[in-house]
Amino acid sequence: MTTLLTGLVSLSILLTLTILLVASYQSKKKSLIDTTLTLNYSSASKMSQMIDSLFLSMRSSLRYSATVLIDHPSRTQQEAIEHLEILRKSGNYFNSLTVVDETGTVRSVSPPSLGTVGQKLTTREAQYALALKKPYISSPYISKKYKRLLLFMSEPIFDKDGQYRGFVGGTIYLQDHNILNMIIGNPEIDTSGSSYSIVGSNGQLLFHPDKQQIGQNIQSNPVVRKLLAGNNGYDQMLSINGDHLLAGYAQVPANGWGVIVTSPMELVYNELHSQVRMMLLYLLPPSLFLLLIVIQLAHKLARPFVHLADLMSKMGSERVELPPDKHHWNREADLLTKAFRTAAKKIKEKTDRLTHEATTDVLTGLANRRSVEEILQTWTKEKKNFSILLLDIDHFKHVNDTFGHPVGDEVLKQFAEIMKSCVRKSDICGRFGGEEFIALLRSASSTEALSVAEKIRTQMESSTNPTGQPITVSVGIVSSPLHGDSATQLIELADQALYQAKESGRNKVVIANEKGC
Ligand code: GH3
Ligand code: MG
Ligand code: MG
Repeated sequence: MTTLLTGLVSLSILLTLTILLVASYQSKKKSLIDTTLTLNYSSASKMSQMIDSLFLSMRSSLRYSATVLIDHPSRTQQEAIEHLEILRKSGNYFNSLTVVDETGTVRSVSPPSLGTVGQKLTTREAQYALALKKPYISSPYISKKYKRLLLFMSEPIFDKDGQYRGFVGGTIYLQDHNILNMIIGNPEIDTSGSSYSIVGSNGQLLFHPDKQQIGQNIQSNPVVRKLLAGNNGYDQMLSINGDHLLAGYAQVPANGWGVIVTSPMELVYNELHSQVRMMLLYLLPPSLFLLLIVIQLAHKLARPFVHLADLMSKMGSERVELPPDKHHWNREADLLTKAFRTAAKKIKEKTDRLTHEATTDVLTGLANRRSVEEILQTWTKEKKNFSILLLDIDHFKHVNDTFGHPVGDEVLKQFAEIMKSCVRKSDICGRFGGEEFIALLRSASSTEALSVAEKIRTQMESSTNPTGQPITVSVGIVSSPLHGDSATQLIELADQALYQAKESGRNKVVIANEKGC
């Protein structure tokens, strides 16, 4: 019962814990994924706004320069260079600034060390800007000369007559020191483990936590495709390395770039696992406590049943103490205990009756031969001091023959009473067979036995009986260990003494001869 109850409770605790953990795991997983996606989307939006503002600001500063340069055409080339230098160094937007005339010839350049003044610009982006005659932002491209990823921005210059006079162009090296790089060049946004990437309007990676990846075209990525199509939002995606990522994405309106903020799914799992560990930490101690209580309760429940089983197994082999007759709090145990008490009482009564019948002589109520022999065996084994009286009624056959069997029985009963009255309570009186009796006198010497035997003999002789004639008895006496120490030997010697008593004229008491005499 203890094992069953403990097992059942352990199983239910285990099941409850599992269900609780699985349910909480699933709901927490969903909520963590949703939160991370939303957070990443919000970070991507903020970053896109920042980049957007930066580009608008960069464009305004270029536009201002274009205006300043055209408003003061008399400026020397040196003054123009100084203006560009101030613009480049104070704004820190651009890595280089160039003023190009309508023929595509470089008029001024900052830093002057580039030494391109007077040269014709041949890059595709510059020629496009020249032909476009409008504000222009190129897609990021790798410069042939410096082998670096850069971006080109330009603002057209028109004179007061509205004549196109070239452009002011700025280059931004995406991996060099500039404001754009200061804002987005640090791959870690926060300590939560999120990172972000920026893709150009052509799907080329402009920023990525892993610098090796910069320049790769990832427009085949489903999230990038959505981004380039002008959508903002969040989604799950696979990284270039095949890692599962939670991504928020937003487009930068000013240049068509896309900002993607990603968190590895692993972060969600790490968080989930630590939450599961916390839950286990909180749930395990009370569960174990509950289990201990159940084990104790199960022991308490099972105790009366175990006790009853123990009593049942002892019944028959030893004396069994019945369980107390009091109410038990457990109804089943109470019913079983009561039923056991009733059954055990009946069995005891029956056993006592059978034992009595098996050990008692029906006619006289004395111990029968078998039980006397058993006691004798025990006493001799335990080497007790005792004496035996073997008594035989004289001429009993004559009593039967003359007065009838029932009268004979009455005489036997009367003799048994006399015997009992002459011995102590601790002595044993038995019927040894027919009209032959035996008495085992505890701790009695042969002399003491002689006096008891004489008492019986004289009482029998003098008592009135149904025959109206005196009936006598002959007695043989042996003592242990004086005459012997085995039951057979003692009985044999007592029998011989009795025989002598009969031989010497009956109504006599004879003590057996001592060993060797
Ligand atoms: P002795 O003096 O030599 O002992 O002679 P006895 O007649 O007493 O001995 P015997 O052995 O010849 O006779 C014993 C008689 O006891 C024979 C038997 O019928 C009788 N007897 C044995 N058991 C009972 C009994 O239970 N009831 C009655 N009434 N008589 C019994
Ligand atoms: Mg006899
Ligand atoms: Mg006799």
